[in-house]
This record gives sequence, structure tokens and C-alpha cells, in this order.
Amino acid sequence: MKFGGTSMAGTERIRRVAQIVRRQAAGGNQVAVVVSAMAGETDRLVNFCREAHALYDPAEYDVVVSSGEQVTSGLLALTLQGLGAKARSWLGWQLPVRTIEAHAKARIEDIDAPDMLESLEQGVIAVIPGFQGISADGRISTLGRGGSDTSAVAVAAAIDADRCDIYTDVDGVYTTDPRIVSRARKLKAVTFEEMLELASVGAKVLQTRSVGLAMKEGVRLQVLSSFNDEDATPADDLPGTMIVSEDEMNAMIERGEMERQHVTGIAHDKNEAKIILTRVPDKPGAVAEIFQPLAAASINVDMIIQNVGRDKGETDVTFTVPQADLARAQTLLEDRRGEIGFNRIITDSHIAKISVVGVGMKSHAGVAATMFRALSERGINIQAISTSEIKVSVMIDEDETELAVRVLHTAYGLDADLEDTAS
Ligand code: ADP
Ligand code: ASP
Ligand code: MG
Repeated sequence: MKFGGTSMAGTERIRRVAQIVRRQAAGGNQVAVVVSAMAGETDRLVNFCREAHALYDPAEYDVVVSSGEQVTSGLLALTLQGLGAKARSWLGWQLPVRTIEAHAKARIEDIDAPDMLESLEQGVIAVIPGFQGISADGRISTLGRGGSDTSAVAVAAAIDADRCDIYTDVDGVYTTDPRIVSRARKLKAVTFEEMLELASVGAKVLQTRSVGLAMKEGVRLQVLSSFNDEDATPADDLPGTMIVSEDEMNAMIERGEMERQHVTGIAHDKNEAKIILTRVPDKPGAVAEIFQPLAAASINVDMIIQNVGRDKGETDVTFTVPQADLARAQTLLEDRRGEIGFNRIITDSHIAKISVVGVGMKSHAGVAATMFRALSERGINIQAISTSEIKVSVMIDEDETELAVRVLHTAYGLDADLEDTAS
């Protein structure tokens, strides 16, 4: 069981979590619980690091930001004890959760937890702080923002759990962020492939890496709400959204439990920035000169367009990078102006990426055309396009994000019936 930041935000919420955990344990289950820091706490800790030193050391950053989960894991263990349950916390270094040595963005290598397994056998509920591990240099490490989801899946895989339930503040995965579109529909199931793609293009309900890991390790994953009352459907009856294989999904469709859609979900991402380099020489090797230094600095480039060459053998190159890396990217490119040979560098953070995702589009033509028409009918201008087998993304002005998501949700027939949303 994993509980996110809003589920752990304060003693009252933690008491509710403890009740949910106790109920699961009372059903005869051995339970390991992974917790996030209280909502807002990690942001607060990140700010302290920035204030302490603008160019902070990632290893010390990890010492600071991992503390939020240490607090909530102890508090949940205490609260469970207060309810008469046996419980103890297991910090990252105690399990241990071994990660690679990449502070602030570590990856879990393995969790070998014989002591915790023995304790579980004895009926003690294990409470594990998410987000943290111990790195190859013997120091504390963290997994990147939203990383507790990945901690939970990794623990589930390590102990061969029957299921990994991700409890959050919505009751499942929806066709789009239900906080933006009130007519978003809850999905009974979504495939790993689609969830991976949705998460990577901005649906923050699950961290992308947690989905990839669950797919690789065959972990049964459910997203459900911790904000239900006492007599809500128990987790074992799968009230949330199950993340399933494509075969399982096809079986569900055949049984009439799911409808086949061309588009399963829509996501948006406001965290990218656009860079345009004008008048780049239109010759072999020119784009390599641009992207090589960015790659060397671990800056992820997403959408790329190279315009048709103008006269005089020149062209403009447009691409996006994470907003957090924009300043660094700009400096790196300015430093290489001579080698690359561009004229001007233009940047814009006021953009958003809107993506439509669905395995149904593998076998259906016209998904992109529907998107472009629906956006144009509302006067929304598309600045760049990228696609994969199960996704179409467009870059638009940030101010039009919510409108675009709503318009596309309707265009693909995803809106819930009004009576569904009235309840
Ligand atoms: P937690 O703190 O539990 O990890 P997060 O805030 O990381 O929770 O993720 C839950 C949030 O994800 C929801 O409150 C919702 O606004 C957002 N979200 C974005 N896209 C979706 C989607 N397609 N389905 C459900 N929730 C979504
Ligand atoms: N507390 C961490 C964060 O806010 C990890 C998590 O909640 O998943 O990013
Ligand atoms: Mg989260």
C-alpha cells in the first residue's frame, strides 16, 4: 500500500490512513506500507536547499529532502501502534533500498530485505519512507520528484506482493486530469503502455518510472483513493483503476467490461520550454553540433523540428527542453555559437504540450487529423508536433492549455454523461 502527500498531510489524515492499513491487515494480509512526505513538505525542503546555496550539492540536498518521508513513516507507525496494531518503520538504509550513485535522481538497483520479510511474517506492519534509498557511496539518496510511487512498486516486487495499491486524492486514473475537466471519466483499467506514455507526457498521478518498473516486474498495480469513508468498497474488490497488460485489456473488452477507444486519455505538461536557433547552416552534422553538448549535460530534448532550408543554405531549428534546464541549455548553446553557426537564439517558457494517448490508434487512422481540426476550430495555434505509435503531442501557447484539453476530451468522445458527473 502506498499513500501520497495529500493522504499523509497531518495527523488526522494519517489516522485515516492507519485505519485503512489496519483494515487491510485485519483481512489476514501481511502489509508493507510506503509513504510520501506531507503535501507541500518536499517543496519546502527543496526551497531551503536553494536558499542555503544556489548551486547546492545534490548529496546534501538528498539529506535534506529525504527527511519529509522519515517524519511521516514514524508518525504512521506510531498511529498504527496507537490503534493496537504491531508496526515499525524501515528507513531506506535499514532495508536497504540500494540505488545507483546519482544524487537527487537515483534509480533503485535492488531491495533485499530479509529482516523486513521476517518481521512481516511475525505480523508486524512495515512502514517504509518512499523516495529514499542508500546510494553506492553509502550516503542517502532520493529518486526524483514523485519517486514514492517507484519505491512502492520496487518494494512490492522485492517481497513478491500480491498487489501494489497506490492510494491518492482521486479514486483512479481518469481520461484526463479530473481537476481540469469535470467531465473526465474514471477508467476501470488502463494498459501499462498507455499509462507509461500518459505519465511521461504529464499525467502526474503515477511517476513514469514506477509504471515501467511494474511492467517489467509484473507487479499488479491499482490506483485508488484514500479519501473514502469507512464503508467504501474494499481495495481487494478493485474499486480503483487497474494497470493491466494489453492481453488483459483485450479480454476485458471482449467481456464487455471496457469499451475500445481510439484515444484513452489526454495529458498536458507546462514544464517544458521552447528554444529556436535561427539560420543554422543546412548541412550534415549541424544538428549534431546542437544536440551533442545538451546530451553531454544530461539535458533531455523532447520535440524537435527542423524547418525546410531557406535560400543561402540555412535553416531554423526548434526544440523543447525541461524548463528547469532552460538557462543551462541556453548558456551551453551560446558557448558553442561559433561551432554551431546559428544567428539568434530565441527562448519561450510560455508553452504547453498537450498529448492524446491510446493503444487504439495503432490500428486506427485519423487520430491526429481529429486533433488538429478540433484545435483549429477553437483558434488554437499548433507550434510543433511529435508522435509515437500510441501518442500525438502538440505544442501550444500555455494560456490555451485548459481549453485545449477540454476541446480534445469532447472531440474524442471521452466526456462522461452529465448524470455520471452529477453524483
Ligand atoms: P500523490 O500525492 O498521492 O502522489 P499526486 O498529486 O502526485 O498525488 O497525483 C494525483 C493527482 O494527479 C490528482 O490529484 C490529479 O489532479 C492528477 N492527475 C493528472 N492526470 C490525471 C489523470 N489522468 N487521472 C487522475 N489524476 C490525474
Ligand atoms: N515527497 C516526494 C515528492 O514530493 C516524493 C513523493 O511524494 O512521491 O516528490
Ligand atoms: Mg505523486
